[in-house]
Amino acid sequence: MNALPPSPLAEEGGDGGSRGGARAALIDESRCIGCTLCIKACPFDAIVGAAQLMHTVIADYCTGCGLCLPPCPVDCIALATAAQRVDLRAAKLRAQRRHARLQREETEKAERLARAARESSAATSADAAKKALVAAALARARGATKP
Ligand code: SF4
Ligand code: SF4
Repeated sequence: MNALPPSPLAEEGGDGGSRGGARAALIDESRCIGCTLCIKACPFDAIVGAAQLMHTVIADYCTGCGLCLPPCPVDCIALATAAQRVDLRAAKLRAQRRHARLQREETEKAERLARAARESSAATSADAAKKALVAAALARARGATKP
């Protein structure tokens, strides 16, 4: 699990209530291949889109951190001057909520895998018991038909 991203508040001097980040990411939607890598990289939940579909940046949420740029395989994201500064306090809360959500999803996935492993193991045991019963019945039948 990744650690929480660096606080945008710290980057902007930690004044908590200011609206920092004069830059925002901009996706060239005509070149986007919908790989979703930028969504996974954005700590502030500022990108929307779905697999194989065009992605776009929610300008009001984007802190201009630039973390979505390197993963893009077609280099179609750039930082541009933002029309307005983002609310850094709200961005920090979004980052914390995202972090909590990812942790929850990871825990749920681990629980699903453990349950599947238990069920598979129980099915294997039941199968083995059934085979043993059949083998025993065959052995009895062979014994009964011996002259
Ligand atoms: S620049 Fe940062 S906040 Fe903006 S979309 Fe990219 S990763 Fe998200
Ligand atoms: S990483 Fe680039 S190509 Fe992939 S979804 Fe994001 S913008 Fe589109």
